[in-house]
Amino acid sequence: MAVLDQLTSQQAIDLENKYGAHNYHPLPVVLTKGEGVYVWDVEGKKYYDFLSAYSAVNQGHCHPKIVNAMTNQAQTLTLTSRAFYNDMLGKFEKFASEFFGFDKLLPMNTGAEAVETALKICRKWAYEVKGIHENDAEIIVCENNFHGRTTTIISFSNDPVAREHFGPYTKGFIKIEYDNLEALEKALKSSKNIAGFLVEPIQGEAGVYVPSADYLAKAKALCEAHNVLFIADEVQTGIARTGRLLATCGNCNCENKNCSGTPEVKPDILILGKALSGGVYPVSAVLANDPIMNVIRPGNHGSTFGGNPVAAAVAIAALEVIRDEKLAENAFVLGELFRSELNKYIETSNIVKLVRGKGLLNAIVINDSEDSDTAWNICLALRDHGLLAKPTHGNIIRFAPPLVMTENQLLDCVSIITKTLKAFEK
Ligand SMILES: *Cc1c(COP(=O)(O)O)cnc(C)c1O
Repeated sequence: MAVLDQLTSQQAIDLENKYGAHNYHPLPVVLTKGEGVYVWDVEGKKYYDFLSAYSAVNQGHCHPKIVNAMTNQAQTLTLTSRAFYNDMLGKFEKFASEFFGFDKLLPMNTGAEAVETALKICRKWAYEVKGIHENDAEIIVCENNFHGRTTTIISFSNDPVAREHFGPYTKGFIKIEYDNLEALEKALKSSKNIAGFLVEPIQGEAGVYVPSADYLAKAKALCEAHNVLFIADEVQTGIARTGRLLATCGNCNCENKNCSGTPEVKPDILILGKALSGGVYPVSAVLANDPIMNVIRPGNHGSTFGGNPVAAAVAIAALEVIRDEKLAENAFVLGELFRSELNKYIETSNIVKLVRGKGLLNAIVINDSEDSDTAWNICLALRDHGLLAKPTHGNIIRFAPPLVMTENQLLDCVSIITKTLKAFEK
């Protein structure tokens, strides 16, 4: 079979089944092309993408400006490793540091790598700056977290499927309930060895759980009072997804007027990935100010591909698109519209319990048992009606379209979703 032979959907699925490890359970649809908010399958059927590759494609599929930056750089210089300097990395580091309001940036490739990087920086800070005794540092995490798939990260997951039979687990983590300030305060007081608190501003994979309005600000204040680093994993919530540049949105250069009324929280360590490249290339990063980032010295950490010239060029372009196309503002406005339209439907319906979210990171909870296959079947029906979404956990369906969507497109999607849901009413 030649590389350029066109496969049918069934052929492509059969190949993955036979030759690929079965580490995912994809919705049966085989995509071959994407543009803006749309993707096409190999038979030519067009769909609205309502997942955006887990919020990596915030800028829309194959954004010409980002693709252009990538192809230009790919024809010039792709990889030097960090054994030598290259003339793109510094530009990216300056651009992104100023964009998000931090002194420094450490570039990696995937979200999980960036989380690992943040944990390492936090531990080193604990020993060298805070003065915790060697090997005693502990980091507080939240129940039902999702931070990636490495051995250390799954060590503090409580998803049995992600964890079981992958031990022994990395030590040094304390798990508390999400959105529970008392639990955080208790954990902070429980030990002199707490180095950091790692948290998702909204728990995306768990099912788009939005914490109470003052949770992040108060959690940050508690961490400050105990000299503990507040580490925000914004791999999914960051880069305009929730209607602001960052879901924590502290001291950033976002000019979004819609931020007012929500507390500003400046994380000590910020973790970004996914949409940092607009979905065209794996780019992740950790940002912090000098007193924290300066604990990292030559040889402490690295990655052959992290900070390569293509990644740097792509990330600058991806952030420029967010700024120039005012995607945070668009996500804010369309998110309000989406939830209000769905709430109108929910009042008349018994199949959906509720819609929740911020900006264009939303989810509906299906009115059925958590282990039912109703949410999966609804996603199959949505696919048939030209819209792609996927259940997160059990009976929860996440809705996260690219942020370049127009109001008319969004209303079209609302009508596809409500029409589809109606067919599942009892
Ligand atoms: C996706 C995600 C990660 C992991 O990113 P990968 O690029 O898949 O390794 C980490 N944290 C959060 C919150 C995520 O959504």
